[in-house]
Amino acid sequence: MNDLTAPGLCSAADCPLPASFGKFCFCHIGRPSSSHNAITRELNDRQAHIVGAVCAIRQRAGSFADVPETYRTIQRAFIAAECRNLLLGELDCSPHKPGRPSARLWLCRLERELLDATGAAAGQARHVTAALGGVIGATRCESSNPYASQEL
Ligand SMILES: [Zn+2]
Repeated sequence: MNDLTAPGLCSAADCPLPASFGKFCFCHIGRPSSSHNAITRELNDRQAHIVGAVCAIRQRAGSFADVPETYRTIQRAFIAAECRNLLLGELDCSPHKPGRPSARLWLCRLERELLDATGAAAGQARHVTAALGGVIGATRCESSNPYASQEL
């Protein structure tokens, strides 16, 4: 842990994510401290485009209406990283609102990508606590939890 971490950020050294579960982010919480550096490296070195998107979505509470350039920056980063499958789209539509992607569902899908990537980096299966929902912060995923149908 790092006592010099900026307020609001995860306590794992150099982690770029907000501390959404007490002192830790959803990627570090519940994972052994021996895996923290590997998780942080994965986030900073290989998943920075997703981390940037997750932070932007959370900061904007899922709305880019007043900052369309921020959304375009995310789009360009995903295209540059050859991750077009992560762009906001049909996968982020509620079954009750087809054709209308939800930023909250998009956030959940992006966070799941980070959980899978950091779980692989840490040599662990998907993180159970985060898979159960309970995201704290600007957005809340409990009521539209795409992980609910996934194996735990
Ligand atoms: Zn973290």
